[in-house]
Amino acid sequence: MDRTILHIDMNNFYASMECMLDPSLRGKPVAVCGRTEERHGIVLAKNYEAKAYGVKTGDVNWEARQKCPDLVMVPPHYEEYIKYSKLARQIYADYSDQVEPFGMDEVWLDASGTSRLFGTGEQLADEIRERVKFELGLTVSVGVSFNKVFAKLGSDLKKPDATTVVPPESWRDIVWPLPVEDMLGVGRSTKKVMERYNIKTIGDLANTDPNILAYRLKSRAWQLVAFANGNDHSVVLHKDYVVPAKSVGHGITTLQDLETDQEVWNVMLELVQEVNRKLVEYKKKAGGVAIYIRDNELYTKQWQHKLELPIQAALSLAREAFTLFKRSYTWRHPIRSVTVSAIALSEESDPVQRTLFADNDRDEKLAKLDQTICWIRERFGKDAVRSASLLCDLKMDTNRVELQMPSGLTTMG
Ligand SMILES: [Mg+2]
Repeated sequence: MDRTILHIDMNNFYASMECMLDPSLRGKPVAVCGRTEERHGIVLAKNYEAKAYGVKTGDVNWEARQKCPDLVMVPPHYEEYIKYSKLARQIYADYSDQVEPFGMDEVWLDASGTSRLFGTGEQLADEIRERVKFELGLTVSVGVSFNKVFAKLGSDLKKPDATTVVPPESWRDIVWPLPVEDMLGVGRSTKKVMERYNIKTIGDLANTDPNILAYRLKSRAWQLVAFANGNDHSVVLHKDYVVPAKSVGHGITTLQDLETDQEVWNVMLELVQEVNRKLVEYKKKAGGVAIYIRDNELYTKQWQHKLELPIQAALSLAREAFTLFKRSYTWRHPIRSVTVSAIALSEESDPVQRTLFADNDRDEKLAKLDQTICWIRERFGKDAVRSASLLCDLKMDTNRVELQMPSGLTTMG
């Protein structure tokens, strides 16, 4: 039996959020930009009005302003975006427990076998659109199909606030004429490969022998040709599923250059809070740390080292990262960007070979302390508990939320 899969995509999410939070912006060309006083002033998102002037995501602020002198530039409000993204997922969860996020503003929803409750996929899609509009003041586009790839394709076909069905009887008529880069999995570099083989549409791809493409695309060739033929059997993950992480990291570009060891220590201490929070969330321990440093000449270096014992403790992670930094980095230029990652992750519950010299009890106590701090920060916000040394000027915006792009493709069968 065919599955019923919805792909729900919030329209111009960041820009729509800003217009919803501040209705005076409605009807004006709006761009959400990295703050102009920061270095990375680029357009993160724009609404349809701004798009009409040719404003593009990734434009540098002044470029965007040149294209559209009346452009209203607003800074991003990530906390709000996350809040509304969660609220939207709560609505979706009323219809299925298989709701798999793809980025902050997209999800797949498996509604197979719910037609008695909620009607056809199309009826359900329309109901969800109405609810999101009414309850959140935002619009979504929904694609309905029998697999994830075509559902996603469908949600792109009509925007904003629309439902597009790609039915099992007639999907070829809809899908095959579309440009090949519209299909999930065909990014910029894959598109270039396709061009070499004169593959322009999804139909062209569907009718290509994957053995020919495999020379360049390896095993992905079979996957992509299968997708183009409607053969995508990957499941929509359960809403509580956490993708297992191989490493967790957190990085930041500082507001001002870092010039001393002390400043680097302060930033690392802040970064590891988030790294450790992720370790706790994924129930993992770090077997090593890696640091990534970029100076103000944009010269980058990275180092990593193995830990004597796997740890899950922010302070220990910070110490390890800083020791590595002291040992490896020679100050030539001020530092602009720092990333700390926990690598070589193992299960929290894995038995650990104790050593004579490491202070196991102390590490365990630190781990417990960290778990408590994580819990407090989760419940009462990031500023509820803070290291005393972080009360000085950090030269970084600690409220800036790092955007993680989940990789929907890696979860596909
Ligand atoms: Mg979107």
